Amino acid sequence: MQLYDKHFRPYLTEDQVMAAVKKVADAVAEDYKDETPIFVGVLNGSFMFVADFLKVYQHPCEVSFVKMSSYEGLTSTGIVETLLDVSEDIEEKSVIILEDIVDTGRTLKELIHMFSNINIKEFKIATLFYKSEIYTGEYTIDYFGMEIPDKFIVGYGLDYKELGRNLRSIYQLNEPHMINLVLFGKPGAGKGTQAEFLKEKYNLKHISTGDLFRYNMKNDTELGQLAKSYIDKGDLVPDEVTIKMLEDAVDKSPDASGFIFDGFPRTTAQAEALDTFLESKGMKIDATIALEANDEILIQRLLERGKVSGRTDDQDENKIRNRFDEYNQKTAPLKDFYENQDKFHSVNGIGAIDEITQRLAKVIEEL
Ligand code: AMP
Repeated sequence: MQLYDKHFRPYLTEDQVMAAVKKVADAVAEDYKDETPIFVGVLNGSFMFVADFLKVYQHPCEVSFVKMSSYEGLTSTGIVETLLDVSEDIEEKSVIILEDIVDTGRTLKELIHMFSNINIKEFKIATLFYKSEIYTGEYTIDYFGMEIPDKFIVGYGLDYKELGRNLRSIYQLNEPHMINLVLFGKPGAGKGTQAEFLKEKYNLKHISTGDLFRYNMKNDTELGQLAKSYIDKGDLVPDEVTIKMLEDAVDKSPDASGFIFDGFPRTTAQAEALDTFLESKGMKIDATIALEANDEILIQRLLERGKVSGRTDDQDENKIRNRFDEYNQKTAPLKDFYENQDKFHSVNGIGAIDEITQRLAKVIEEL
């Protein structure tokens, strides 16, 4: 379901909504059936809730409305506007606010303030939906129909830019899905080259552990000095150093819509650490895509690259062969690791650069 530029998916059925309405109405009735409370609906969002609440609440009561709003589009603006005051004589009555949703509690704070100046018997808050995770108000919510996570919802009175109020059930905003990819393959397979294209195409953050090490070596940092001795020989840098560096790099981009991991993981320990780390952040690897090419082609590519890149590990065939040995021993087993997770994809890494990009894009788009 689409409203303007946003897509929403079904979240609560009409029956689930009605069960939540009934839960609030029954709880309030239990406490107030022997008096005549005044229910104050908070417009615009609560009109459906108030109507259905009253159909369930079959005891003496009065009804009024206030109009308030703190949302513009998807986010709470923090500015709560009071557009209409209660007009009825409410002194000496129990006032029960009927809210469609309580999230940060800003609208509530304004309401509580509004009623604190009026001499009333009792003041209670009843809300259909309650985002308890983000509620920061001091006032304890007296009645709620259902606790919901901090996701934007529309329908049953709630809107996105004024649309969606007439939907009978509740829909939740479809957050753009994060894509996290591992580019896999031997040195020279084209991981870095392809990552440059893919990061633009899919708006991803590219993290190359090789580039990070080279940056640190160039700036002669402690990490760079430590890594240099390994990299110069074509050996892998120890896991604990590499894993920590990778985690720091991910943490530096909390708003990324996904990552391309290039040159990481290169050992089973790194792959396991990556899974644990991503899981702790509610993230996961979606696919590991291997760029396949044979050793002789790769050696030629690396020696050519060594002439322009200045990378000493690309200029010596013995070092290159050592890097391949390291790959075969330590990195190749990751194929099984990702195959077991059903995430391994293989792409022919030989051909024109844009052809290879298209092969990778095909895999990504089918995910
Ligand atoms: P690359 O640019 O990916 O070919 O990496 C160059 C060198 O950096 C490798 O030969 C390793 O010495 C080191 N390196 C890069 N990534 C890793 C990693 N994930 N684990 C261990 N060493 C790495």
